[in-house]
This record gives sequence, structure tokens and C-alpha cells, in this order.
Amino acid sequence: MSADEPTTVFAAALALVAWGEHGLVPVVAQDVTSGDVLMLAYADRLALARTLASGEAHYYSRSRAEPWHKGATSGHRQRVREVRFDCDADALLYRVEAAGPACHTGERSCFFRVVPGRDDDDAVGIGATMGLLQRVLDERLQALPEGSYVTRLHARGLGFVGQKVIEEAGETVVAALQESEEAFLGEAADLLFHLSVLVALRGQRLDDVARVLHERHRERVAPAGRSSGDDPAP
Ligand SMILES: [Zn+2]
Repeated sequence: MSADEPTTVFAAALALVAWGEHGLVPVVAQDVTSGDVLMLAYADRLALARTLASGEAHYYSRSRAEPWHKGATSGHRQRVREVRFDCDADALLYRVEAAGPACHTGERSCFFRVVPGRDDDDAVGIGATMGLLQRVLDERLQALPEGSYVTRLHARGLGFVGQKVIEEAGETVVAALQESEEAFLGEAADLLFHLSVLVALRGQRLDDVARVLHERHRERVAPAGRSSGDDPAP
């Protein structure tokens, strides 16, 4: 098989993209779990075709002027779950599961530096927060570090964590009816945390829960099938 054969197989997909004058388009890589932006790079036709064919992120390195299979040497591959293109088709979005840091510095995201002036510590979103929680649960449940609350919950087992979920659900409802905003938010956070541990102890992931919610949303939004690929996330 010749190296550029996937460009023939995926000719129809490649024709959708408005390639720039050097045959390149910018690609944003996004963590599909957290929604975090991981990096910005470029792709040529071969890179996109190889990405579509292999399900792993391929780019074109402008500095080295050569194809770049992300993680081929570092092991920090990106499994591409979906490729989107923007409204005028001149930029791509790879929605990925990252096996390691996107950045050569070892940071998860290349965008780890903040330009002073608009840095807002409170600018956290549900996606980033639940994604971080999932990563912490993965780490804790694998290493089971002594003194960790997650380690204790793991030792007590699924039934105990289930009881905690019921208890926290009750407290959340009581707080919703009778308590302050702050107390209610605290109980709701406890409920989400313990529910997340329950999901993890069953060997499943918040992504799996999100997929169910997403599919329900899609069914309601587009009951008769879909005609375009540019719909917003739910
Ligand atoms: Zn970087």
C-alpha cells in the first residue's frame, strides 16, 4: 500500500476542506472528555487522510516540513473520536482521547500559560471540572494511595458508595427546599462526587454517562435524522 493511498479512499472527505495556499489547514485538538483545548497544529491532505484511516491524530509539521504522527516517538498518541470542520471549512477540530500530554513541555495542554489581564480563577466549566474529577478518580483507583478518601470508598465497596449516593441525594433535596444557596451547592457537589465514584467503581466512566445524555439530546433535537455535521454540542 502506498503512503498516500488513504487520500484516494477519503477523497470525498478531503474535498470538503478549504485547504490553504500551502495545502494546509489549522487543526485544533480538543480533549473529548473535558472539552479542554489541547493544541493547535496544521494538517495537509495526507495528514487528514491518515487520521481518518487510522483513528489516530496525524498532522503536518511546518517547522520540520514533514508529516507528523502525534505520539509516534513520545507515545502520547491522540485517539481521534471525531473530526469536525468549521463553518467555512478552513479549520479542523480533532476531538480526541489523549494518551498523554499534548505539549512537548509535558503539560497536558499547550495552552497552560495565561496572558495577564484577563485571568479569572473562577472561569471553570462543568466539562473541565468533571474531566479533572475523572482523571483524579482514574489515578486514585489505580494507585489506591493511603489516606485518600477515594481509596477508603473503594475499600468499602459498591454497596457502601451506593448508600452514600442515596444519603447525599436526600441531603441535596432537603437543602434545595430549606437551606441557603451555598449549602445546597455543597450538597449537590457531594452528590455528583459520590455518583462519579459509583460510576467509576462499576468500571464505567463519566464519558459513558455523558454519551447517554448526548444521545437523548440528539433524539429530541433531530428525531428525523441529520443533514449537517456542524451542530453545536448539547
Ligand atoms: Zn505545546
